Amino acid sequence: MSDPISMTLAEARDALKAKKISSTELTTALVRSVEQSRGLNAFVTETPDRAMAMAAASDARLAKGEGGALEGLPLAIKDLFCTKGVKTTAGSRILGNFVPPYESTVTQNLWNAGAVMLGKTNMDEFAMGSSNETSAAGPVFNPWRAKNSNANLVPGGSSGGSAAAVAGDLCLAATGTDTGGSIRQPAAVTGTVGLKPTYGRCSRFGIVAFASSLDQAGPMTKTVRDAAIMLGSMASVDAKDSTSVDVPVPDYEKLLEGGIKGLKVGIPKEYRIDGVPADIGGLWDKGAAWLKAQGAEIVEVSLPHTKYALPTYYIVAPAEASSNLARYDGVRFGHRTSSSIHDITDLYEKSRAEGFGAEVQRRILIGTYVLSAGYYDAYYARAQKLRTLIKRDFDKAFESCDVLLTPATPGPAFGVGEKTSDPVSMYLNDVFTVTVNLAGLPGLSVPAGLTDNGLPLGLQLIGKAFDEGTVLRAGLAIEQAADFRHKPANWWRSA
Ligand code: GLN
Repeated sequence: MSDPISMTLAEARDALKAKKISSTELTTALVRSVEQSRGLNAFVTETPDRAMAMAAASDARLAKGEGGALEGLPLAIKDLFCTKGVKTTAGSRILGNFVPPYESTVTQNLWNAGAVMLGKTNMDEFAMGSSNETSAAGPVFNPWRAKNSNANLVPGGSSGGSAAAVAGDLCLAATGTDTGGSIRQPAAVTGTVGLKPTYGRCSRFGIVAFASSLDQAGPMTKTVRDAAIMLGSMASVDAKDSTSVDVPVPDYEKLLEGGIKGLKVGIPKEYRIDGVPADIGGLWDKGAAWLKAQGAEIVEVSLPHTKYALPTYYIVAPAEASSNLARYDGVRFGHRTSSSIHDITDLYEKSRAEGFGAEVQRRILIGTYVLSAGYYDAYYARAQKLRTLIKRDFDKAFESCDVLLTPATPGPAFGVGEKTSDPVSMYLNDVFTVTVNLAGLPGLSVPAGLTDNGLPLGLQLIGKAFDEGTVLRAGLAIEQAADFRHKPANWWRSA
């Protein structure tokens, strides 16, 4: 049997059922892996005692032939999901001491399925970022480094801790959230699989809100099969989230079967963007050829409003964020200043200035501005109209294809500190992912190859609403053709 920490979810599940390993053994190995990997800064809170207790309970259920779909499988949870009795910071000082008295629906679903919690993963503050450098807990390091280099690279963001934890074998799989790319972008630059489900597929209850009309939880895993398995347990309709949708949760693993013969794969021509390195375009062409070789039909489609997606996103998301984050004022929620104050406004200002980092403050300023009386029509209302046009582009494209294939990111992992002084170059990382959130569609990033200097790159599959099954099946076809077996060198592990 392979080293338990490098098992996929599916392998570990089958080994547990076959009694080749116990959850206690598996969890012990992963708790140790987390401890040895503190140099990555992937976890903000480790919960080894809870993990061992959950593993023991799983072993008892497995011994009786009982247990759920994820029984005994150790996972990492992004620190945006409220976990009852376990600190949940959203990567922010303002929630530095917040211990939720309730559990998010997605994590509750995972525990109901028998999963084991290893701890909470680092992330960009309030999920705002593409590099995991805006976290109050400091940056996460990507387990991957370029060939012949010791320079630390970012793991992508905002779910950078989850991505690093999956890529570095600190957990079998992890949860992420994706508002404009925060599952797919970090997955792409860490050689892992990330799925952003259709808006409404997973409940948002108990997930600290960033931009409520865009936020969605999803799995971050080692394989496409694992993403299918995990989504099956995460997804549900929920009375506590009126935007969750009451459509049955299919057996996603089953939907992987059958191949892609006759599948119509659209290639949106507007995703050939100037300034994107040649290896990204090359990989994209290769991906299309792989799907064609397996019987898919490749068709060119047009998404003419793509060029407006980033500006639209960077109006809509900050607008919603400025409203969602108004609750952190040191009175109702969050850190309260201890310096002297002269009135309530002073209290709000000092508490928020101390609690929020620079990127979050920038988003609140932008969001408040675009919603202000004089500018609402010029910015926010126009962005909403563009959002509709972007959504219509997809509706039209899906009249002639079943799924779209695009690059996942405009480049591989970049250096820590390389883009922090230029927010716009940071925002450009989301050029291939934000459209999907604006349209509410499912998107999957699958590792597809390495750059010349040995860094992972991903391809993205975009599907029709609630058609995660087709997205996963096409993703499996890419995964099988790419045969991506590379692992990062183990530079970070301490004895
Ligand atoms: N990078 C994007 C942003 O900073 C998306 C973040 C996300 O998906 N949570 O807003």
